[in-house]
Amino acid sequence: MPKLNENYLNVKASYLFSEIAHRVAAYTAANPDKNVIRMGIGDVTLPIGSEMIAKLHEGVDAMASSETFKGYGPEQGYDFLRNGIVDYYKRNGVTIAADEVFVSDGAKSDTGNITDLFAKDNIVMVPDPVYPVYVDTNTMDGREIIYIDANAENNFLPLPDPKVHADVIYICSPNNPTGAAYNKEQLKVWVDYALANEAVIIYDSAYEAFISDETLPRSIFAIEGARKCAIEFCSLSKTAGFTGTRCAYTIVPKDLKFTASNGTEMSLNAMWLRRQTTKFNGTSFIVQNGASAAFTEAGHKQCMENINYYRENEKIISEALDKRNIRYFGGVNSPYIWFECPNGMESWEFFDLMLNKIQVVGTPGTGFGKNGTHFFRLTSFNNHENTREAMKRFDTLFD
Ligand SMILES: *Cc1c(COP(=O)(O)O)cnc(C)c1O
Repeated sequence: MPKLNENYLNVKASYLFSEIAHRVAAYTAANPDKNVIRMGIGDVTLPIGSEMIAKLHEGVDAMASSETFKGYGPEQGYDFLRNGIVDYYKRNGVTIAADEVFVSDGAKSDTGNITDLFAKDNIVMVPDPVYPVYVDTNTMDGREIIYIDANAENNFLPLPDPKVHADVIYICSPNNPTGAAYNKEQLKVWVDYALANEAVIIYDSAYEAFISDETLPRSIFAIEGARKCAIEFCSLSKTAGFTGTRCAYTIVPKDLKFTASNGTEMSLNAMWLRRQTTKFNGTSFIVQNGASAAFTEAGHKQCMENINYYRENEKIISEALDKRNIRYFGGVNSPYIWFECPNGMESWEFFDLMLNKIQVVGTPGTGFGKNGTHFFRLTSFNNHENTREAMKRFDTLFD
């Protein structure tokens, strides 16, 4: 009998989305005539822009003739895409090198797989509430996790306590689920803390394209010192509508080096290259060809048109909350709006109230951690009509 990885016994069953689906199914079965509006989805709804679609088609056609056919490509991504990403960073004022860019099929897989580079006895720091992937992947490896509270007092943007040590730190900004986004001064505090602790920051910037406040950093590498302490994860999922198409990228700076117990210097860039070339055979050429268009000016403009469409929904949602003086975080620089459940309600209780009274589905904050107990997440991934209708109904909750 194989000895199993019993750390899996410690991974909490993910009740959140299955429980939501279960409650919605039960409600619609009992009330088939009611029109339920889903405002809880963390998935884009608009189609991919024509610039990306044309390059996806071009990629498919390349497979049809022996002159242009592509077999295995470089595991870390084609140069045309890596260079496109480097140029995109440059336009945002950040210098990275092409061999620091690793193309993959998802930021979820990369943020999970990066744990391969770290020993089991590291102290991992994650904020609460949090994107569950960071917690579950470290639990699967048996690492100790310490939580840092994100709450209304710190605007859901916690800063480190210099007295507490961590080796690996997870930061997601703009944040899922809270929508909160760090400014440069706050991120500098994290970078300085990481440097002082010889820690690594796992920086998830999947929502950077949603930032509308131009003073906020889109990359942790906009912060001095970050090249020595951070790995950045980004994705075309929310930016370009690639949630079903799959393409992401991870930046591992060559300055990121630590000393092994035997005195050898180890480069995380070299380790990740070794890891990826061993366990991954690259993202499909077709997808990378399509993805490359998202980094051209014309393709990026189309991506931003979709994001601006979602921004309109953010406005509709935040206006409805403003009208009822409900405290919320996020929106503006994020597709997520995170608000305090009215009258001190618990988030599942509020979920049931919304479903039963107004047939609007959101995500109870408690599913992301204890600090979400009295919070609720709505997303702007929907059409304007549904969002307007949902918020019109929302207003009637208070009559
Ligand atoms: C959606 C999302 C991603 C993107 O993951 P992919 O695997 O690239 O689709 C990454 N991080 C967070 C926090 C997300 O919400």
